[in-house]
Amino acid sequence: MTEYSESLINDQQPTTVRPVVEPNNPYASTRGSLASKQLPSFDEAIINKYNRSGPRYTSYPTALEFSPMPEGLETDILQNREARAPLSLYFHIPFCRHLCYYCACNKIITKKNSDSGDYLQYLIKEVQHKRRLLAVPEGSSKPLVKQLHLGGGTPTFLSDEEMVQLWGFLQTQFEFLLEDQGDYSIEIDPRELGDNTLKTLRNLGFNRVSLGVQDLDETVQIAVNRVHSAELIENVLNEARDLGFHSINLDLIYGLPHQTPVTLDKTVRRIIEMSPDRLSVFNYAHLPERFKAQRQIKDEDLPSPADKLKMLGNTINTLTEAGYQYIGIDHFAKPDDELAVAQREGKLHRNFQGYTIMGDCDLLGFGVSSISQIANANTRYILQNNTDLQAYQANIEAAQSNPTVMPAVKVIKTSIKDRLREYVIMNLLCHDYIDFKDVNQKFGIDAITYFIEEIEQLGDMQKDKLIDMDAAGIRVLPKGRLLGRNVAMVFDEYLDKKHKNRFSKVI
Ligand code: SF4
Repeated sequence: MTEYSESLINDQQPTTVRPVVEPNNPYASTRGSLASKQLPSFDEAIINKYNRSGPRYTSYPTALEFSPMPEGLETDILQNREARAPLSLYFHIPFCRHLCYYCACNKIITKKNSDSGDYLQYLIKEVQHKRRLLAVPEGSSKPLVKQLHLGGGTPTFLSDEEMVQLWGFLQTQFEFLLEDQGDYSIEIDPRELGDNTLKTLRNLGFNRVSLGVQDLDETVQIAVNRVHSAELIENVLNEARDLGFHSINLDLIYGLPHQTPVTLDKTVRRIIEMSPDRLSVFNYAHLPERFKAQRQIKDEDLPSPADKLKMLGNTINTLTEAGYQYIGIDHFAKPDDELAVAQREGKLHRNFQGYTIMGDCDLLGFGVSSISQIANANTRYILQNNTDLQAYQANIEAAQSNPTVMPAVKVIKTSIKDRLREYVIMNLLCHDYIDFKDVNQKFGIDAITYFIEEIEQLGDMQKDKLIDMDAAGIRVLPKGRLLGRNVAMVFDEYLDKKHKNRFSKVI
């Protein structure tokens, strides 16, 4: 009996278990997606009934399950990864010049330009250190990269010259897919963009940008300390389009101080005129006890829960009427955007970068607090670097003289049971559907028997028409589309009292 089969058997599940998970493409599916075929329906009473705190499932198990990294494990994970699996690289650039009061990111506020130059040297050392351990596919001299993302913080805190240096160095270490096949993206703060930065990025090979907007209303902008004009956003977006960036994303937030359904509606309509390819509309979670920056926001300036719901409902209606496809958790895309196409074709995935079309990649994170997700033949690991800049840098320094020192300090080793539940959760969030036959084939179980308790728990949601279930599978219905996380939470084995107050509300 294999390790997989042993761990999947439990009292409810007496059938013979076979490990049949494809290691490099765990969510591959031959069917199309239900999610792309149905508009979400906004039902206030239902949302109020089910709205509770829950994870965003950029991974399963979630980051709350991290434990300290045993010595030697990261080296072992990198050395034993499947050499043929392509890579997705993530670089975390933590610096920002100004503090946005809603911020919940790992960032460092500084005006010292030299900070990024010093940091870049640590990133380069980290890449060299990890790269030495990675096996290369047969017939190739370097590991293949299909995706690269720079996030933050503010990635353009790096000067254009530093960006060129980083990109040039990476080309010496990895084999990148051609620009029209790979996915190379960067988060941009439109206020922090040099005259030539977009052009430099495009010339290097970046083909996607994501612009942080949040709101166009001046009162809201002042209240969150992030002021810019609509014209600035439009100019950056138009320049990116003229330069040939394939896909442009804008981020908005609902639930900010002084926002009303009327002001947000105005912002959304103005944004639609700019015609971004993708839109993320995040729910502001006010957790001042956890995020110091948010203590600058007064409770009394926040919109009421009823107004927040109205804002969400209006935004969904306005965006879908304008032709955007609702992808899932906060995300919308034009029907011809590759995210929407991937969803229609049943090829959408979800990882630490949110929804993605590159689900077959191992994710390698670099920089303070960055997260990696790496599979080998038997299991998958989630690793996180130190979240403190000085500690991260000390770690990279130590690694120079002692090759066994590695940057990650936390790890989750996922079991086959986790991967089964991850498969179910990600299918619900990407495609609004679980096909029992598909699950049975991939994991060698009888899904109905295995998940009998979860199926019973879903009874109320079925009565409320959030989902539909039969012997073939579980389908999320239009009324349940905005509550996909709640459906997914039923399959989360870790979601107990221990984590009760660690997540924000689903809506
Ligand atoms: S929201 Fe973004 S730009 Fe603003 S402080 Fe946080 S990381 Fe920096």
